[in-house]
Amino acid sequence: MVKKRKNIPSHGWGFEEILAEMKRGKNNDADWKSGKMFGFVYYPGDNIARAVEKIYNLYFYENALNPSIFPSIREMENQIVSMTANLLNVDENFAGNVTSGGTESIFLATKVARDMARENKTLIDQPEMIIPVTAHPAFNKAAHYLGVKVITIPVCEYKRADINSINRAITNNTIILVGSAPNFPHGVIDPIPEMGQIALKNDIYFHVDACMGAFILPFMEMAGYKVPSFDFRVPGVCSISADAHKYAYAPKGTSIILYRNSKLRKHQIFVTTDWPGGIFATTGFLGTRSGAGIASTWALFHLMGKEGYINNVRETIELTKYILKKIESLPGLRIIAKPDMSVISFTSDRDNIYLIGDEMTKRGWYLDRLQFPEGLHMTLTNTNVRKCEEFIKDLTISVNSVRKSILKKVSSSTLLSITRGIDKTVPEKLLQKAIKSGISRISKKGNSSGSAAMYGISANLDNRKNVKTMVIELFDSMYSL
Ligand SMILES: *Cc1c(COP(=O)(O)O)cnc(C)c1O
Repeated sequence: MVKKRKNIPSHGWGFEEILAEMKRGKNNDADWKSGKMFGFVYYPGDNIARAVEKIYNLYFYENALNPSIFPSIREMENQIVSMTANLLNVDENFAGNVTSGGTESIFLATKVARDMARENKTLIDQPEMIIPVTAHPAFNKAAHYLGVKVITIPVCEYKRADINSINRAITNNTIILVGSAPNFPHGVIDPIPEMGQIALKNDIYFHVDACMGAFILPFMEMAGYKVPSFDFRVPGVCSISADAHKYAYAPKGTSIILYRNSKLRKHQIFVTTDWPGGIFATTGFLGTRSGAGIASTWALFHLMGKEGYINNVRETIELTKYILKKIESLPGLRIIAKPDMSVISFTSDRDNIYLIGDEMTKRGWYLDRLQFPEGLHMTLTNTNVRKCEEFIKDLTISVNSVRKSILKKVSSSTLLSITRGIDKTVPEKLLQKAIKSGISRISKKGNSSGSAAMYGISANLDNRKNVKTMVIELFDSMYSL
């Protein structure tokens, strides 16, 4: 493919000109403030957001790379870690850092587990990671980068990690066991106490991924809701990842990785002593890193207070309960697993759920698509509260309209049969083209018309390697002008 090469302008543009150009571009972006989007943006409301913007600007250009040049950033980082440690009930031996996101926190925990095992268990030849199939792909990514083999175990009917399968998967090569609190697809917390026991019995590192839950579950508990055990009170838990840029409302690029003790964290710190540029050490994956995310997170903890978080959490959980009840009352719809907090996944036992999703897209809603099993997905926040009744109304209309079109048999029969994997005779080439156009339509235009086709096909395609190659090609073209 011939790539367009664009020039940096020879002379700088005026500010107004730049702003106008940006605004033009932004018109194509999702309108997350509408309350019709889920996840992606976690918003504390206009007043707090304005205050955080000012704090962000105070550290706009500062670099958190060197802990002695900007000691105020290091102090804030240490305090963020300490406040999160307290929230997650770890004793005073804890250690931790602020990272660039859940992915980096997970990467670092995996590295610590691998290097601990290398130090203590000389017999390991090919380190292995045991994850439930519902664990976040960041674990597959970390394992890929760190030369760790992923062993995926199934979940039981309630979508929690299957304990018997974990026991069977453990070998002398197992270096890390992972549980989620909660997992992204179904919002369900794995059986952390049982997993902790397995980890202790077999002397295996145990990481709990609370990227999604860390800033909601503790406040749920404080508000009096029943929360399954997931934090450092559970024996065997070695580390927890906690994303501040989700339910703590921090701007993107902030997560916390916490360890039960500083002995573990020592394996996280990277040092090289022989470089002509000097002795070089970093706490995480990044070198140069922004001080603004750290400052904003620190400010948010203080702007919100426990009280602010508790109030928001209460509102979000009540919204979740209400929507769950309404979804269950609609014909054919079924909650895939009863969630432990504010993530809902549902499917239809009667109609194609992706077609229902497409109907919702037409009405301006952004719902994630799940596969294995097929479903729709929402991460609720209090931004969604005021659109709650509109959501129920539109979902009811969407379910009815899919039903009607099927009854009338006016829906595109080819598309539908491809989607459902009934028509196995479609030539491979055509299938690939269909998938590609499905994905392209979703991603390039920022809406998901045709997502029924894409997810339907990819979920039913036997050769998933093909899908992978196509997605790589697609990304290659999307990240080119
Ligand atoms: C978001 C998320 C991650 C990954 O975090 P990023 O910040 O997107 O890198 C990991 N696990 C869970 C459960 C998540 O929700």
